[in-house]
Order: sequence, then C-alpha cells, then structure tokens
Amino acid sequence: MKIICIGRNYAEHAKEMNSELPTEPVFFMKPDTSILKDGNDFYYPEFTKDLHHECELVIKIAKNGKNIAEKFAHKYYSSMSLGIDFTARDLQAECKAKGLPWEKAKSFEHSAPISTEWVTVSNLNDSKFLLTKNGELVQKGSVKDMIFNINQIISYVSRFMTLKTGDLIYTGTPSGVGPVVIGDKLEGFLNNQKMFEFDIK
Ligand code: MG
Repeated sequence: MKIICIGRNYAEHAKEMNSELPTEPVFFMKPDTSILKDGNDFYYPEFTKDLHHECELVIKIAKNGKNIAEKFAHKYYSSMSLGIDFTARDLQAECKAKGLPWEKAKSFEHSAPISTEWVTVSNLNDSKFLLTKNGELVQKGSVKDMIFNINQIISYVSRFMTLKTGDLIYTGTPSGVGPVVIGDKLEGFLNNQKMFEFDIK
C-alpha cells in the first residue's frame, strides 16, 4: 500500500507558505509505516523543533488502475476519511532551500495519522472538514476550494504510477497549518462527524 500526498492544493495554504499556485498537481509519497491509527498517541519526534499539523481529506483507491481518464476516475474510489499530514517544517524549509527532496520532513514514522472511520463518498463537492487543537478551531476546509479535484488528481498521478486497491491519497491541506507541542490534543471532523482524536506525547 502506498500513500500519495498532494501539495499546495488550496490557494490560501499556498499563500500562507509563500508558494506559487501550481499549474499541475504536486505530489509526494509516504511509506505505509507513516500510518498511525486513530486513538493511538503520537510521540513528538526528536529531530524537529517545528512540527506542523496539516489536516486533509483522504481518499481510498478501490481498484487498480493506470492512465485513468478524468471522466472515469470516479469509478476508482468510493470512500473517504480524514487524516493529518504531519510535517517537520524546519526540516522541510532546509530541504526546500537546498533544492532537496522532502521525505525526511514528511515521511517519518507515524507522520500520517488517520481515522479508522471511512464514509461513503457522496456530494463530494459539498464536503467540509475541520481540525481543532485543544478544542479550538485551527483548520477548516471545503472540497470545492481544492485547486485540483479528486478526479483530476487520480488521472494525473495514474499517468506516472499504477494506483492499487487500498492506496491512500491525502488531498492537500487548507490554510491554518501550525505547530503542535507535547500535550496538545487534535480532533478532526468530516461533515460534522468526529473522525479522530489523539494526543501529542
Ligand atoms: Mg499536506
């Protein structure tokens, strides 16, 4: 199973990161060892001093496909969930400055907490999600604000690699990313349904 993550998929987030708006989807990957299931504590890694939350809608691939046309992409997924793309922002800034890949800032152990709940995709464009930190709203996203929609993402990524059943796509984060510290509690909601809750230890 592989995890594909889309970067800069919301204009307001690209702006807060001083990044240009992409003209085609930007993606990177995390290994399956980044998964952290809902309810398990996350342990703050020793190699960063600036760990950021990025709350993202996650789509699960439902059948194998390569070179998927955009108009058929909807046949390749039926469930969605909510997760965090944890990012060691200090390491990422170093990598970016040197023009190096981001993996150590993005793909570390348990960098992809995800809900154990999955919901059927319906009215996708009306879907909304939010993240609270210690009970306060920090991120709020609407699928309709994505720069590249799910079908465009699936079509684009499948030009480069076969998508397989069970693969996950983290679809990018809205604005409001920010640091977490030991003792914080993160809670995620998708269409008003609580999807995950875990503590930073
Ligand atoms: Mg992200």
